[in-house]
Amino acid sequence: MFQRLPLSKLFLTLHSYLQGFIHLFYPHICLQCATTELLNNQVICDCCELQLPYTYFITMGNSPVDKIFWGRAQFQKSNAVLFFTKESIVQKIIFELKYKQNKKAGLLLGRLIAQEILSNLDYPPIDYLIPIPISKQKLRKRGFNQCQIICEGMVSYGLNAPLFQGLSKIKNTQTQTHKDRLQRSNQSNDLFKLTNADILVNKNILIIDDVLTTGATIEAAYHCLIQAKPSTICISTAAYTLT
Ligand SMILES: [Zn+2]
Repeated sequence: MFQRLPLSKLFLTLHSYLQGFIHLFYPHICLQCATTELLNNQVICDCCELQLPYTYFITMGNSPVDKIFWGRAQFQKSNAVLFFTKESIVQKIIFELKYKQNKKAGLLLGRLIAQEILSNLDYPPIDYLIPIPISKQKLRKRGFNQCQIICEGMVSYGLNAPLFQGLSKIKNTQTQTHKDRLQRSNQSNDLFKLTNADILVNKNILIIDDVLTTGATIEAAYHCLIQAKPSTICISTAAYTLT
């Protein structure tokens, strides 16, 4: 015969049925190995996070990132955390952030950047984080600036610096996917505009971008920001493209 369930147990049972139902259609699984053993705020499991293709550039003098900017911009310290290659887990994470509006992917990248910066003495104490802005057109389409989400991930990990919002993009460049490093680096002039520059005077600022390929975007941002006379300019990107 039917046994009467206490109300709390009934809710728990319903909750677990509902979760199972949602999971059937929207499974919360690791982007890499598809395990369901991950927390609500994760996009990849702990095991896959350990196996990410870390560059360890931060430990090198004259790293490939440093070399990209030789003769183009002077950074106090520069870094890129992961190697970006086609069909890789890093591409999946970036795709998840930019095209599937999954902010958790950006928060993960932010945490990875912050972990390296906070454990490296070459980075000065950061006064302002500067997310590379996207065009208004892209902002409308995507709903958010992915670099801003990455910065929020950095702040939530403990790199406590305010986000500077005075850098804006004034030119919508063509998508750069099908161009090589040289072609892309020729279109960087007049990409950004700076407002409220006075608050950056004598400050240590850190430019944040998602993927570094030619360095053209960051170089353009550097030439714009240097006009504010900051004390130092550092950069870090989540990923570095291997071409
Ligand atoms: Zn996994």
